[in-house]
Amino acid sequence: MGFFTDTSVCIGCKACEVACKEWNAVPEDGLEFTGMSYDNTQGLGADTWRHVAFIEQDRPVSARPDDGTVPSAEGDGGMRWLMSSDVCKHCTHAACLDVCPTGSLFRTEFGTVVVQEDICNGCGYCIPACPYGVIDQRKGDGRAWKCTLCYDRLGAGMEPACAKACPTDSIQYGPLDELRERATLRVEQLHGMGVEDARLYGHDPEDGVGGDGAFFLLLDEPEVYGLPPDPVVTTRDLPSIWRHTGAAAAALAGGLAAVFAVHGLRGGPR
Ligand code: SF4
Ligand code: SF4
Repeated sequence: MGFFTDTSVCIGCKACEVACKEWNAVPEDGLEFTGMSYDNTQGLGADTWRHVAFIEQDRPVSARPDDGTVPSAEGDGGMRWLMSSDVCKHCTHAACLDVCPTGSLFRTEFGTVVVQEDICNGCGYCIPACPYGVIDQRKGDGRAWKCTLCYDRLGAGMEPACAKACPTDSIQYGPLDELRERATLRVEQLHGMGVEDARLYGHDPEDGVGGDGAFFLLLDEPEVYGLPPDPVVTTRDLPSIWRHTGAAAAALAGGLAAVFAVHGLRGGPR
């Protein structure tokens, strides 16, 4: 199970951010003027589990269908306004989970990645391990927090709060195979309407994290939205590192044994 976020229909209402905070009792995260359009949290964090990015682009409108089916990507006067609700990607190969020494982070029966606050010891190993910079330690608390994909709601047969609240169905929840099929059709539809920049992000099970449990339809390069273009699970090379470390340790031990053996033969008993 997972999320498909179709940013082409996001209207930037932030209902998803509010619903997430309300349902999960996530603390307030600063109501400051950031100078970044209508964005007042600037990114995901311990107290922002859904983040709606507002990207203003001074570029000509490439296509404007008459039926109004691409409302959010384009504004008046040739300005383009992109909005996108970001979230934990619930990676298939999740480095945060790999490095967690306490078992606080675990894979649920829904395929999602959840951190248990009563087990987290605040070591912080998961923070640099995440290739997307999602998981974060809460100030004054020290423990790691992030989107749970509303694990409690899923268990009760309900959809996540953000998907439930989204008025345009920009956030869709369901089986990943179905969502991927729907997303592919949506990209084809947008291409047919002249929105040639429409593309999927995080949908490919062959990518560097084995595919995201939360993937996106974007209208520009991932970097424009603050997303890494080619994320790789940061624990990918750990097995080979341990193999090489083991081989080096074995060689060192062999060398030392040889030195002591030779020394013992030459020196004889003292
Ligand atoms: S996006 Fe980061 S925090 Fe979320 S599952 Fe992947 S590695 Fe973990
Ligand atoms: S609730 Fe839906 S339309 Fe509103 S900001 Fe979130 S994703 Fe966009």
